[in-house]
Amino acid sequence: MLADNIFAKIIEGKIPARIIHDDAHCLAFHDVHPQAPVHVLIIPKKIIPTHDTLTAEDGPLVGHLNLVAVKLAGELGLADGYRLVINCKDQGGQTVPHLHMHLMGGRPLHWPPG
Ligand code: AMP
Repeated sequence: MLADNIFAKIIEGKIPARIIHDDAHCLAFHDVHPQAPVHVLIIPKKIIPTHDTLTAEDGPLVGHLNLVAVKLAGELGLADGYRLVINCKDQGGQTVPHLHMHLMGGRPLHWPPG
């Protein structure tokens, strides 16, 4: 088992998800509780619990996650814009301890967030 959290189980195929992108380094799937018309999660297949555990060797992977976000934003019709969010640990609002990037769009998104 990769790790005992829901995203590790999705990577291992142990629980279902609405997957829209799958490559050697990452997976993307629709959020089960969408906060916008488009709300997708992009996650690395490597076990990285939180944003602040990234290291220099993860640089190319972080770049890849961002480029997948660009590709998916295009495919999902977000030409007018979108938001990328990475919540980190408790005060950042992170609930699943596996690094993930939220890709959200399809409506105006306000600032600042709550
Ligand atoms: P965060 O609060 O940044 O850790 O985001 C976790 C996100 O995962 C939330 O937006 C949840 O709605 C979403 N989520 C939790 N379980 C699942 C699941 N099984 N499939 C898809 N999204 C999920």
